[in-house]
Amino acid sequence: MDKTTFKELVNKNIKVLNEESFSLLEELLHYTLDANKKFNLTGIKDDNSFRNVMLYDSLIPLKYVDFAGKNVLDVGTGGGFPGLPLAISENGHFDLLDSTKKKIDHINNFINLYHLQNVRGINARAEEYAKENAEKYDIVISRAVSSLNILLEITIPFLKVGGILLTLKGDKAEEEIKDSKNALKKLDAEIIDTKIDYLDDDNEKRVLIIIKKNKKTNDKYPRSYSDIKFKPL
Ligand code: SAM
Repeated sequence: MDKTTFKELVNKNIKVLNEESFSLLEELLHYTLDANKKFNLTGIKDDNSFRNVMLYDSLIPLKYVDFAGKNVLDVGTGGGFPGLPLAISENGHFDLLDSTKKKIDHINNFINLYHLQNVRGINARAEEYAKENAEKYDIVISRAVSSLNILLEITIPFLKVGGILLTLKGDKAEEEIKDSKNALKKLDAEIIDTKIDYLDDDNEKRVLIIIKKNKKTNDKYPRSYSDIKFKPL
């Protein structure tokens, strides 16, 4: 979508944002696509698709969840998605976590360049970072990191009891939900809602799954990455 359509659709369908947020989102577009020539952050190469798939998609959760004043963690943020667009548009505190140092350096450089106060990049593996940071976040969010059953084990431990996990999925959401029944039970979490939206240009379906943590997570989770991956809950 072009710049004008992007603004109109965000304001109409998601949330009314101020001009400063829109101009920073546009800076993020140029910053990311420039860096993409040197290392791979996204398969998206042109401005219009970027606004659709990287910006609009990242902002969809604002339609349903109030981030203001919340402590938020984006697990597997890559080049900062959805965490950076959300941090630019809301005044909660955002920690953006990724195991690839190069990506976190890239994010922190953007944060410093634009003096963003409410967001920081953290270079660590989720299952290791969770050991020192369990039960600390109000909201955990994650996009395109792993199937839901695996994602649950590396994200739920970070949440305070009553906190929510938000994950943006595509067409396979139903199937992934079916495969996650055991993980949800073991981690004392439940799906409280699923919201369906469509990206503008190609009408691609996006499913936002909203999961609530009901009890403190057993200390044995998350297990080592090889157990999580090869013996999923
Ligand atoms: N969320 C971003 C997006 O939607 O554009 C990036 C998605 S990318 C396909 C997946 C990212 O998750 C990679 O940058 C990878 O380094 C990170 N990742 C995968 N497993 C992780 C883990 N256990 N801890 C931290 N980061 C992880």
